[in-house]
Amino acid sequence: MPAPLGFTGAWLDRADQLRTDPEAFAAATADPRARCLTLDGIDFVPGNDGTGLRWELLDPADARAPMLLGRDERGIPYFVREPHPAQRIDARSRTVMRLLPLLSAQDLALYGGARSLVDWHARHRFCATCGSPTELFRAGWGRRCGQCRAEHFPRVDPVVIMLAEYDGRVLVGRQRQFAPGMFSALAGFVEPGESLEEAVARELFEEAGIRVSDVAYVASQPWPFPSSLMIGCRARAEGSALTLDETEIEAAIWVDRAEVRAALAGDMDAPFLAPPPLAIARHLLEDWAA
Ligand SMILES: [Zn+2]
Repeated sequence: MPAPLGFTGAWLDRADQLRTDPEAFAAATADPRARCLTLDGIDFVPGNDGTGLRWELLDPADARAPMLLGRDERGIPYFVREPHPAQRIDARSRTVMRLLPLLSAQDLALYGGARSLVDWHARHRFCATCGSPTELFRAGWGRRCGQCRAEHFPRVDPVVIMLAEYDGRVLVGRQRQFAPGMFSALAGFVEPGESLEEAVARELFEEAGIRVSDVAYVASQPWPFPSSLMIGCRARAEGSALTLDETEIEAAIWVDRAEVRAALAGDMDAPFLAPPPLAIARHLLEDWAA
């Protein structure tokens, strides 16, 4: 059975009703049990035993606005603070990529959501409509312009990631920046004015020169670097001849189930190195190979 998808399965109730109820929200921030996620910029700080997330009691003296992550089954509210205005945000922190395996699946999901949210606030201090400063509202799940009152909400960027299948084999490709030997599913951002099916077909044609039909949804995964929603799909290719867009794809190969299973098992003589456990591309390969 494929493993659960990384960054899914957060254990808090998001408690949306608290976001729009100022009295209930004030009561939550005044709860002496309220916790606040410790971050270094937008990177998490490991807990005291070297694993898990680090939580502190919500400090009423901290001037930065608390943003509500949710409530646990005991009703304890969990927050993360708005970033310092001067905070430098490192959107591609190598340190955090190394630390992610320290987290349980549930903590990873909670951290991923908090990271995307804090990162969005750091990059949306000014109104996209009129350029005036914005301020946080809805318990951190939006920003409102102080001048024109336009409301802005945390964005999620859809990305299709897919395996094209032809004659018992699937297509995997590699980008120059991948680890040596690693191949993964092809992927690309969905553009305005296209369906997921059309985005899958366009990306596979642009990057690999193949035409596909029968696009089917498999699974999705939030990817908080910074705010993608990875939408995993499969498609049937009409042929196997490739024309690669070498600015995007360095190499691409068709692999059969035995080769995919060997790669997933980490066999030394597998034709490629499989993507890491947190990547939905690995889940797509596991799902197909099963
Ligand atoms: Zn405005």
